[in-house]
Amino acid sequence: MGSATPMRSRNVWGDRLKPPFMAVGDHIGCELPGGRALFFTRKGGVSGEPFEELNVGLDTNDYLPAVQENRERVAQLIGIPRERWLESKQVHGSDVRIVTEPPSPDDDPVEADGVATTLEDVAAVVVTADCLPVALIAPEAVAMIHAGWRGLAADVLKKGVEAMREAGATEIQAAVGPSIGVCCYEVNTWVHRAFMRYPRGTARLSNHAHLKNVARLQLQHAKIPLDHVHDVDICTMCAPRSLFHSHRRDYGQDAADTGRQASAVWRVAGGDD
Ligand SMILES: [Zn+2]
Repeated sequence: MGSATPMRSRNVWGDRLKPPFMAVGDHIGCELPGGRALFFTRKGGVSGEPFEELNVGLDTNDYLPAVQENRERVAQLIGIPRERWLESKQVHGSDVRIVTEPPSPDDDPVEADGVATTLEDVAAVVVTADCLPVALIAPEAVAMIHAGWRGLAADVLKKGVEAMREAGATEIQAAVGPSIGVCCYEVNTWVHRAFMRYPRGTARLSNHAHLKNVARLQLQHAKIPLDHVHDVDICTMCAPRSLFHSHRRDYGQDAADTGRQASAVWRVAGGDD
């Protein structure tokens, strides 16, 4: 390391990522006051086709020991062991839990689509394959939210911000990870109808829905200033297949035949004041 020999960069992102996003190997990091998020790609795991490589979805049809090994690798990269992950049984709803007690192996899975926490040395984790992973970060708490169209229609981000505030958060910033873009998200009228209260041309464009714009507007309505909302602006469906699991692109029939990528957020004590 530190040698002057020119080396081919192993960073797949080039200059694609703008602050607060940064390359962390083949994955995407994000650092904001109070916390750090890591949005994983599907690179660097052990799963075989069609889940290659880094599939962390426990409810997929992948070989479970491979998924467990992948989750172990994610734990290594975030530096927080799996026993200290806060995960929920994701149901495309809008409940966001507030967790103030460390997790225990005896905990029953709880249905929710996000977790806010004030705990240190724990990671709030969601898994996605087109839905939006949204990290909420403040000096007092962090949250990770799973936001698909159903969740957004049910105000999951608004509820995420409320959970953060209930946990004591003041200056909240949001980071939207890789997720399906308006480019690829052609929808039926049901989905359009779910977003009627958002402006046409912003949330609804011909037969497409712009979930990232809906997310931004919902956060704005929850009084998160626009300059506190950061979107990595990467579409999981039209990015190379080697980078992201995409339910729509890969195996639209059975959700269990598509892998899931992990997104994690955890608190980082502000050292410099
Ligand atoms: Zn796209």
